[in-house]
Formats: sequence, structure tokens, C-alpha cells
Amino acid sequence: MEKRITGHTELIGLMAYPIRHTSSPTMHNEAFRTLGYDYAYLAFEVDNDTLEDAVKGLRALKLKGSNVSMPNKTVIHKYLDEISPAAALCGAVNTVVNNNGKLIGHITDGTGYMQALKEDGIDVIGKKMTIVGAGGAATAIEIQAALDGVNEISIFNIKDKFWENAIETVKKINENTLCKARLYDLEDLDKLKEEIADSYLFTNATGMGMKPLEGKTYIPDKSFFRPDLIVTDVVYSPRETEMLRMAKEVGCKTMNGLGMMLFQGSAAFELWTGQPMPIDHMKEFLEI
Ligand code: NAD
Repeated sequence: MEKRITGHTELIGLMAYPIRHTSSPTMHNEAFRTLGYDYAYLAFEVDNDTLEDAVKGLRALKLKGSNVSMPNKTVIHKYLDEISPAAALCGAVNTVVNNNGKLIGHITDGTGYMQALKEDGIDVIGKKMTIVGAGGAATAIEIQAALDGVNEISIFNIKDKFWENAIETVKKINENTLCKARLYDLEDLDKLKEEIADSYLFTNATGMGMKPLEGKTYIPDKSFFRPDLIVTDVVYSPRETEMLRMAKEVGCKTMNGLGMMLFQGSAAFELWTGQPMPIDHMKEFLEI
């Protein structure tokens, strides 16, 4: 008889739409199983129209907590009791903890990315980075990098609906941290080349390189990279984007988004259980 789920099992959710492609339930349930924790993690299709009711349900059913992904990350704070300082600066929440009925929102994407760099022996603190992106993942990385002590951040984005958000992020970083942030239009490829040439690390924090943009990159050619540049991508499916493939050809050290995925998950796991994930086992399990 299956004894994994009992009357005591605590439930943790993931509220997003679309969400059926996610690997978070597989990752968290494997970590619970490995550590013998009596928790289960399930994905729920929740969008902005059903979010308020879903949060009421979370309270009523006394879920231990939840992850939150698009399109709810920037909206859910309205229904919570408190949010962490980093989540407030990012204007986004990806983890909710139910602390005896008090719902607290956190963001672990930025700390996850910074931890992944550290684990790979990449030390960007006190140095300059150039990053493309102004959405949820990018903002969390930019804010956390500035909070952690990155010296200079050059942010590039296309002039779409995220542009205003990028302006806000630059303002928040310059007003609240010692880091110097600047914003540029991604169409200005000469400027992009110049800023990358001056950086220790370059990262893509957009969906460029994953479906429906798989096989594509906004980097025109290999002359944008040099062998001692670190090149990272938040995309983890595919594991090697076209941009990372180009960077590897030049001889750059590269990192894909799997480490960020693991460490943002581990930070959320720790918020719910008090313990980080069994990282070595999880790396093997996720084939990182
Ligand atoms: P989002 O929708 O909040 O932001 C999208 C970003 O992509 C914006 O900056 C937008 O301007 C940019 N963009 C869209 N189309 C573009 C184009 N044609 N050219 C250049 N830029 C373009 O999305 P998000 O939640 O920030 O996710 C972005 C990526 O990060 C996704 O691939 C997602 O899978 C990945 N992600 C990874 C992790 C991880 O743990 N590794 C965590 C969160 C998100």
C-alpha cells in the first residue's frame, strides 16, 4: 500500500498559468522524498482572474505555502499580509509562506541566480555585469546583484511593455544601493558590444533562446564575446541556447539556468521546511 501521502501530509502549491510544463513539482517532491519530509507539492492552474480566490483557498485549507509564477508574480502581493524587503524592491513574489495564518511573500529568483554563480566559482561582487532583460527574472537578478555588491550593472531591453519597468529598476538600484545601474536600448548593438567588452559577466535574462525563440539570439556574432568573459543564461530548456553555444565556441565559461532553478527552489524549500534541499542529490537527479 502507498504510504507516502497520509492524513498529516502538508501541501505546497504552485500557482501559475500556463503551468503544466513545469519541473518544480518533480524537483520539490524528490527533495521531500529524499529527506523523508511529509509534504507534497502540486501545480495549480491559476491566473489573475482566479488568484484572489486561490489565495483565500490557500488560507482556508492551511497550505504550508506556495510558489507563484507568471502571470501572478507581480499581482499576488495585494492578497498577502507581508512581503520581504527584496520582494518589495523587485515588485514581485515567487514564494509564499503560511506562517500560522499569516501569508508572507518572498522572492528567491535573485538569490537563486547569485547562489548558482557562487557554486560555479564565479565571483561578480565588486565587478561590472551587463544583463539583457526587464521582466520578472531579470528584475530579481538585477536587484539582488546590486544588493549583494555588484559594482556596476548595464541593463539592455527592447522598447516593449517592460521598458518602464527597467526604468523603475534602474532608479531603485541607484537610490537604494551602492551599485551604479544604467539602461540602454537593445537595438543599440554598438553600445551592447561596448558594455559587454567592459564587463566581467554577461547574462541573458529573457526568454530569447527558448521556445518559441529557440535557436535564436540577439547577439549578432562571436566578436561580442572574448575568452575571459563569463556568459550565463536564465534559460534552461534547451540546456544550451544558441547564445551559450556561441560563447563556448569563443572559449567563455558559461552557465545555463538550471543552477538558478535549483537554488531558487532550494531557497523556497528552506523557507517552508527550515532546511535547504539536498543539493548534491538534486544536482544528480536533475542531471545538472
Ligand atoms: P517576463 O515575461 O517577465 O519577461 C520577458 C522579458 O523578455 C522582457 O525583458 C522582454 O522585454 C524580453 N523579451 C521578450 N521578447 C523579446 C525579444 N524578442 N527579444 C529580446 N527580448 C525580449 O518573463 P520572465 O519571467 O522574466 O522569464 C524570462 C525567462 O527567464 C524565461 O525564459 C524563463 O523561463 C526564465 N526563467 C528562468 C528561471 C530559472 O530559475 N532559471 C526563473 C524564472 C524565469
